[in-house]
Amino acid sequence: MQPIDRSTVWPYDEHGDPGAFYYARFDHPTGVAAEAALGTLEGGDALLYASGMAAVSTAVLAFGRTGGRIAIAEGAYFGTSKFFSLLAPWGLEYVEFDQTGPAPDADIVWLEAPANPTLTLPNWEALRGHPGLVVCDATVATPVYLRSLDEGADIVVHSATKFLTGHHDALLGATVTRDPKLTARLRELRANAGTVAAPEVAAALLRGLKTLEIRMQRHTESATELARRLAGHPAVSLVRYPGYSGLLSFDVAGDPRPVETGTRLIVNATSLGGVRSSMESRHRWEGDRIPIGLLRLSVGLEDVDELWADLEQALARLG
Ligand code: PLP
Repeated sequence: MQPIDRSTVWPYDEHGDPGAFYYARFDHPTGVAAEAALGTLEGGDALLYASGMAAVSTAVLAFGRTGGRIAIAEGAYFGTSKFFSLLAPWGLEYVEFDQTGPAPDADIVWLEAPANPTLTLPNWEALRGHPGLVVCDATVATPVYLRSLDEGADIVVHSATKFLTGHHDALLGATVTRDPKLTARLRELRANAGTVAAPEVAAALLRGLKTLEIRMQRHTESATELARRLAGHPAVSLVRYPGYSGLLSFDVAGDPRPVETGTRLIVNATSLGGVRSSMESRHRWEGDRIPIGLLRLSVGLEDVDELWADLEQALARLG
């Protein structure tokens, strides 16, 4: 076990010079250990942040510019485009595009693999040669299923709050890059904007990575089976599932509230990627960009037949 060093300051050396650690907003030992572990999995240099959105906002502070344009995948995490919209007073524009095809002109192309909750995947071939900086939010895929830097991304972003830590007890974000200049710029912004992660949370990533692969395999097996059974259910009109990881979404006719409030094992709550299954209607947050009957299900590690029994009895509430 890596001991958690909670210090915020470390003494200078005998010459009065700072060593590797001197003030925790710049770097701390638990963070550096967790970054090394994640960087190995992604094949790049990782940096940790106080949340997924802290990683997103630091990346935009680092590489966005006044008059610049970000093209973001349609149906990607609502909070990311919400954040981009809040930057309008800084002169930063954003547009949505269908990531299954080519990206429009933009300084930054923001992909999500797979998109949450529409579960589309980026078309890497169609992106080749795009002059913009390519960022891929791979929160749902995790490096178990996708090494975005190998596919052509310049920066990978994670909400490590989800599958990477995996237990709904840590708020954490990450970026990974292979270009030392990009890493240096992100590091500079992180330290000076103060978006760094705390040591306890970095330790939760070290713990989570130990079981990541086996958890992801089980999430995938159960989600694959539930997607199959849901597709055959008469109350379900559409199932979206990309074939890996633990996130799927499905549509029912009309108001889905009786279903989401009717489960007993599956928690009616937001977020995803934990050992415990959770489900919610996304329309409450995202409004008309999301079908009213769409339910997002994050499949946990419970017994798949018990999960199915829970879904079946909840779907029966639609009458
Ligand atoms: N990216 C994706 C794909 C997400 O699903 C989320 C949160 O739901 C975020 C980023 C933001 O992460 P956090 O909640 O850790 O700030």
